[in-house]
Amino acid sequence: MANKTLKNTQDFEIYDVAIIGGGPAGLTAAIYTSRALLKTLAIAGNPPGGQLTTTTEVENFPGFPNGIQGPELIQRMREQSLRFGAVLKDENISKINGTFSTGFTLTESSGNQYNARSIIIATGASAKWLGIPTEQAFRGRGVSACATCDGFFFKGKEVAVVGGGDAAMEEANFLTRFASKVYVLVRKSKEKMRASKIMLQRAFANEKIEFLFYTELREVLGTEKVAGIRVVNNQTNEEKILSGVEGVFIAIGHAPNTEFLRDFVELDAKGYVVASQGTHTSMEGVFVAGDVADFRYRQGVTAASFGCMAAIDLERFLAERG
Ligand code: NDP
Repeated sequence: MANKTLKNTQDFEIYDVAIIGGGPAGLTAAIYTSRALLKTLAIAGNPPGGQLTTTTEVENFPGFPNGIQGPELIQRMREQSLRFGAVLKDENISKINGTFSTGFTLTESSGNQYNARSIIIATGASAKWLGIPTEQAFRGRGVSACATCDGFFFKGKEVAVVGGGDAAMEEANFLTRFASKVYVLVRKSKEKMRASKIMLQRAFANEKIEFLFYTELREVLGTEKVAGIRVVNNQTNEEKILSGVEGVFIAIGHAPNTEFLRDFVELDAKGYVVASQGTHTSMEGVFVAGDVADFRYRQGVTAASFGCMAAIDLERFLAERG
């Protein structure tokens, strides 16, 4: 007699390809492989969608002259992959076993297992943190790495953004919709900031933004919630307390999501998947796409293109192997 309380943790299908990752790289790959009539499983992550789901307006993805919200762009890509028969699971893979000749088994964090003949890794990259103790202590209580998610909570309040790249400029500009004032803490000089000219121009023109150069965050102050920050000038060692700050947004870059791949494919010193001949990894039958292998371009459109390339490389590989 069937025991209805038992959860079926085994999907007995053997997929032609399992794609790990639900951002533009993984979903574009899923559109291509499913449209090429390969039985496609896309394991899109939990929460699914990657970095685009935590961004606001995407203005530079071709085809959207008036821009599009990141989550909507991802939702459209999901629908497009479903249209061609891809199976989507919003889960995280924690382990992969096997080889191309034995077949691959992918195990999800709660134990579900999937079998596939080939794999595309498209797990992207995650936000980096500063590593100061009070940063984690106040995470979710005023410290965040996602202005889109948490900016709304700071209506009429002062906030600080840490970082001098495009992400920091985007977060700072976005936060001015809500906050009364946005400090941007940059550890270098104005001239050495990494952000692109257009993003800098916008941020500098925004009257609600005040830049503090050569400035590092030392401590987040407060008891229950953030109530000020202690910063230091790294040239003079002069410390300052910005007592009005109630929200802190860390925007200092990303690290690739490859911890679960350590013993499976070759990674470089920073943990990015090493790709050769386009999108091949060190493991036969395993391909890579998107920010998990790309620390140079890191755009939605380059990730999508990378996903397309991986799907085509994989199709050709499977065709050659019969
Ligand atoms: P970047 O690597 O470009 O910039 C990271 C910033 O954080 C730098 O200013 C860096 O300073 C600073 N930083 C790093 N570690 C620390 C630390 N421990 N303490 C203080 N500051 C620190 O990352 P982004 O996430 O900004 O951008 C990644 C890529 O995504 C880029 O290619 C960017 O162009 C792109 N992007 C594009 C957007 C758009 O066009 N709409 C939006 C967002 C990102 P330092 O220079 O001193 O190392």
